[in-house]
Amino acid sequence: MNNHLVKLEQELAIARARMTSPTTVAPGGEAVAAAKLLLQAAREDQDREGLLRTPERFAKAFVHLCSGYHKTARDVVGEGVFAAEGKGLVAVREVEFYSLCEHHMLPFWGKASVAYYPGELILGLSKIPRIVDLHARRLQVQERLTESIAADIVDLIAPRAIVVQVEAQHLCMMMRGVEKQGSSTTTETVRNVAGISQEELQRLYASLK
Ligand SMILES: [Zn+2]
Repeated sequence: MNNHLVKLEQELAIARARMTSPTTVAPGGEAVAAAKLLLQAAREDQDREGLLRTPERFAKAFVHLCSGYHKTARDVVGEGVFAAEGKGLVAVREVEFYSLCEHHMLPFWGKASVAYYPGELILGLSKIPRIVDLHARRLQVQERLTESIAADIVDLIAPRAIVVQVEAQHLCMMMRGVEKQGSSTTTETVRNVAGISQEELQRLYASLK
């Protein structure tokens, strides 16, 4: 690690210690301090007019983008679980989401689609986007985002079968490194599909197209 990085780490540690003092802590205080260090790292003039309030703006946005911690699917779903009235499949397609990749803390965004055969329970339709947002507003990898959505729905309503697909574009790929602008990444997970017929499985997949 070079000296400059070591120095930044030390400054961050000092800033963190200062910010965790209970009398001075403000929501996102650590993020304000971190943004100031990032501006230093970019060799920017922190006193120029355009940057004066940037650390506070950054912190506010960052805290919002990471607001999925300390909440559970049960918190965001609330009363939105109902008795299933039939056995027909439920599909919620192309729920838009915005997240941050945990490797670069750069945005990735896309669409999540869910299809399931209910058991005894169904979820209110607006609750699936809330579960997607809950996990998108954490530092993520796309695979875990996909698995977490499925796991929460299984946990809440124990569907007979479920497929979750996520398609996303990653700024860390688009802006740096391989710079593949047009590429998107698809991830998928299935749960409980052993108990359904081949025809039902095909219908589940077809409903996501
Ligand atoms: Zn990344």
